[in-house]
Amino acid sequence: MGTATIKKELIKILGEKKVLTDDLDLMYYSYDSSFLTRLEPSNPDAVVIPASTEDVQKTVRFAYENNINIIPRGAGTGETGGCIAVNGGIVLDLSAWDEIVEIDAENMQVIVRPGVIHANLNEQLAKFNLFFPPDPGSSKMCTIGGMVANNASGLRAVKYWSTEPYVLGLEVVMPNGDIIITGGMKARTIKNVSGLNLTKLMVGSEGTLGIITQIRLRCFPVPKARGIAMAVFDNLDDAPATVLDVYQNGVLPSGIEILDSSAIKAVNEFKPEINLPEAEAILLFEVDGNPPSVEYEGEIIRNVAVKRARSFEWSTDKKRMAELWEGRSITATAAARVRPDGSRIFAGEDISVPLSKVADTLRAIRNLGEKYGIRVVNYGHIGDGNVHTAPVINPENPDEVEKVLQLVHEIHLLAIEVGGTTTGEHGVGAVRRCYAEAEHGKAVEYMRKIKEACDPKGIMNPGKVF
Ligand SMILES: Cc1cc2nc3c(=O)[nH]c(=O)nc-3n(C[C@H](O)[C@H](O)[C@H](O)COP(=O)(O)OP(=O)(O)OC[C@H]3O[C@@H](n4cnc5c(N)ncnc54)[C@H](O)[C@@H]3O)c2cc1C
Repeated sequence: MGTATIKKELIKILGEKKVLTDDLDLMYYSYDSSFLTRLEPSNPDAVVIPASTEDVQKTVRFAYENNINIIPRGAGTGETGGCIAVNGGIVLDLSAWDEIVEIDAENMQVIVRPGVIHANLNEQLAKFNLFFPPDPGSSKMCTIGGMVANNASGLRAVKYWSTEPYVLGLEVVMPNGDIIITGGMKARTIKNVSGLNLTKLMVGSEGTLGIITQIRLRCFPVPKARGIAMAVFDNLDDAPATVLDVYQNGVLPSGIEILDSSAIKAVNEFKPEINLPEAEAILLFEVDGNPPSVEYEGEIIRNVAVKRARSFEWSTDKKRMAELWEGRSITATAAARVRPDGSRIFAGEDISVPLSKVADTLRAIRNLGEKYGIRVVNYGHIGDGNVHTAPVINPENPDEVEKVLQLVHEIHLLAIEVGGTTTGEHGVGAVRRCYAEAEHGKAVEYMRKIKEACDPKGIMNPGKVF
């Protein structure tokens, strides 16, 4: 079916207000936050903005009957081209469907539509002294639907893990238009082992198996106290060794972040008044819980860290905690500014490696940067081995683009070689699917079988994941 007919039919089914067909509108949907879409933006044939499960179902049924691709989209903050119509089709923009259906505080859970923004949800939950712990850097922009589809996490994954354990149930529109409820039709329980776990299957499926139209999430009580520690190291290997030592002393912080020398330099160049100590690495620990336990754990971290660190500071004072954390909170912005004629690109940005390999990996990335003559800023969630690399290039320079793509490829291969993964939290999308066999071997065959069972016509977000 041609683009003009698709547009006409969609307007007939859903009405003009819910269908975008202008070239300018479609261009907006040709990008997400990935470098891929900067290089190769890809317009959909049309965009549908649904306001109900029925709208989604009608769109999907039409697509199914006419073999048209369907691509779900949240806020488009993904770094992988995941919500892009790489082979044409209809984009379903779920970001406007942002209803918090029910905060079931009695049962420590919340039911939302997919377009709810992460930060907004936590603002509402705070009124009930509850929160949804996964904490992506994109919290003020990304949708809960996008987080579930990507199994997103962030700074606090070391203690609170990713989105997946919080998802208790879903409503999903399958590629043929069927509507299913995972986690039980009437269940409002925290535990439920009845049936095959389709909820888990959907979480992290990146829009390749169905469209998530409603989400039931488990919430946690808001911790009463926090503390922040900063430790400065002259030897890179001492940073992961300290993290391990902290764990072995029985402390599981809610966040452990690393800035290596490249990130420290970038922060100081961008905001000299922060004046981070020049060092091989800085570790930031966040501890949360009740006040006595936070102090107790802070003391253990101090005792462990001073064995190797050049300096150490601990604080539970709100203002001082914000100051200690400031360098980390502006690292991504600082990385984007290290070259006046350059930009930080989102590619190869999300490898995750075993804790024992973090120092070697950072050194190897430094060498790769030198090999290709590209400045790379490294930081990340060292507590779970998630290293964010920020290569900075002039994207208008084809030579630099070619080099950075090779650099990124080598970073991905490095992650696999050291027993890690090409993506700790951002997902596979269109940009990392070429590593599927290398990462999963024969399991990819079974992933494809599951995909075929759910989506026999292959219309649901094709060209992604495997
Ligand atoms: C500055 C910045 C910081 C970031 N920090 C983090 C971080 O700390 N941790 C982290 O994990 N990620 C991070 N990200 C990546 C991104 O924000 C997350 O992956 C987020 O979950 C994507 O949500 P979204 O609503 O933007 O989804 P989109 O980008 O719109 O879509 C992402 C994927 O989900 C699918 N999808 C979206 N909605 C649905 C739905 N309702 N049903 C089925 N499939 C759907 C899409 O098809 C696509 O494959 C960051 C991104 C930026 C730009």
